[in-house]
Amino acid sequence: MTASGEVVVASEPKRCLGVNQDGTPCRTGEELLLPTGYCFGHDPHRALDRSAAGTLGGVKAGAKRRRGLDPDRIGELNTPADAKRITALLTVASATGELPAPQARAALVAVQAWLKAYDMDELEQRLADLERGRR
Ligand SMILES: [Zn+2]
Repeated sequence: MTASGEVVVASEPKRCLGVNQDGTPCRTGEELLLPTGYCFGHDPHRALDRSAAGTLGGVKAGAKRRRGLDPDRIGELNTPADAKRITALLTVASATGELPAPQARAALVAVQAWLKAYDMDELEQRLADLERGRR
């Protein structure tokens, strides 16, 4: 390494290694550079972070769009009539694509499980009533 070479290196202000979108070299000065030699906006590793953040933002926005049926529309599940209404709602929502099929299926399975439990509960109460009447 020559003395003149060292002078050139020393006198050249350190700038970001990145290139702007219009093709000009990035003018960000040394005080704002990351250890990689890039500014925050051009650092390749940070670019990955940014795209991951963008993907996460997309997922969040998608989740907001596809968060399912409005709870007010579904209403409460207290009686077999409610289960019937909700089953019809889920069927229509699934058939029209308003609700993704796996989500509709999961909800329908849950309604069926609820109905089964309701029937069991009902039978047990009737049985208890009958036994009480026999005494
Ligand atoms: Zn830069």
